[in-house]
Amino acid sequence: MTQPSEQSAFRPTPQDKPMPLAEARARIVDAITPITDIEQVPLPAALHRVLAEQVTAGVDVPGADNSSMDGYGYRAADAEQDGATLHVVGESLAGHPFVGRLGAGECVRIMTGAVVPEGVDTVVMQENTRAEDEQVVIEKRPAPGSNIRLAGEDLKAGATVLAAGHYLRPADISVLASVGVSEVSVVRRPKVAFFSTGDELRPIDGPAGRSLAPGEIYDSNRYGLAALLSDLGMEGVDLGVVGDSREALRDAFAEAAAYDAVVTSGGVSVGAADFVLDVLGEQGTVDFWRVAIKPGKPLAFGTVGNARFFGLPGNPVSTAVTFIQLVRPALVRMAGGVPADPIRFALPTTADLRKNPGRENFLRARLVTHAGRAAVEPVDHQGSGVMRSMSRSDCFIVLPAEQSDVPAGEIVPVEPFAQTIWGQPDE
Ligand code: AMP
Ligand code: MG
Repeated sequence: MTQPSEQSAFRPTPQDKPMPLAEARARIVDAITPITDIEQVPLPAALHRVLAEQVTAGVDVPGADNSSMDGYGYRAADAEQDGATLHVVGESLAGHPFVGRLGAGECVRIMTGAVVPEGVDTVVMQENTRAEDEQVVIEKRPAPGSNIRLAGEDLKAGATVLAAGHYLRPADISVLASVGVSEVSVVRRPKVAFFSTGDELRPIDGPAGRSLAPGEIYDSNRYGLAALLSDLGMEGVDLGVVGDSREALRDAFAEAAAYDAVVTSGGVSVGAADFVLDVLGEQGTVDFWRVAIKPGKPLAFGTVGNARFFGLPGNPVSTAVTFIQLVRPALVRMAGGVPADPIRFALPTTADLRKNPGRENFLRARLVTHAGRAAVEPVDHQGSGVMRSMSRSDCFIVLPAEQSDVPAGEIVPVEPFAQTIWGQPDE
């Protein structure tokens, strides 16, 4: 059962030094043990899953030399200049190969994807020929060997199609189907529990028509977190709103301990009603609890039971920023995937940026065209409680910790919201 908080193993103090983001990220990702449970799923259900085992090609792709054009197949030696006339002896259609071998001066009409008959080494596109009864005139010869796709040029039988740890996207499903794979082994999805903390929070599905009582706010983080999790293809389990008391948190932690990961928001600082760190120290372990970013300084990383614990700050923008920067790569690794390095590029800012040295800043911004060139425009209201700033943005301007104010026109690092999250495993 619950223990008295006096036995708490962890005592956060305001003097604890925030960890640089890159260090926190590496530390979190390194601490994660990937899930190894395997599920067999039919190929159509494998989208957005992570391959548990490498897939090897059982066949060549393409399976035979075939034409990449509609036209005529012949031997290059039979048409040494433009205007050569060849005798049409048959046709090869996709799925209906020409049976037989070509003799001297002969050609076949051939369609895209049709098998190239024995003896043919070149295909001329139909637009460069003129048909005359049983004959065809090659008006403009292609280089010998043209317009033929060679057997196995995409994949050779025995080659690795996709490596273990590959996150399956639509193109991957298509590639797997091209080698005849109908079922794949994928990693079990992480089960991620999440809850909000705060006595002020009202769920949006409360009694209809009841207006907010003084001091109440709607619990937006829980819905935002659920959306961030489903965007990642994860199974989120909603544990609701937990009040600001040790007892309530102890119960919630006990329930959460059975999952692979727990993500919470709020109550993680050193305020009078912030008990998350306390209870995490009692019932689990605290690895670190402060990261040098803005928004988002308080962030508890640790364990509770079998679960990895991520206690995110309560201000909605801080919750989202810390999830994207720290929880998302951790969950990708937990899911058996490879967290991609964030993609950043450099653009001029259209406006002055305020910045105090100390913490890495994630300003919400938009990619724009300014005077005919790509640029980045910060949105108004950068407060960590102003979620509209994030909703109206499509990228972060990322200012390094030591940076101070930036004048308009300076080049700044930009991290788009839409980017590669699942990296490619080594083959
Ligand atoms: P905390 O991290 O608990 O100190 O909360 C910081 C700020 O975020 C306070 O203004 C809270 O009311 C607000 N907040 C905390 N949790 C949520 C939530 N789930 N949804 C919306 N706002 C929240
Ligand atoms: Mg709170």
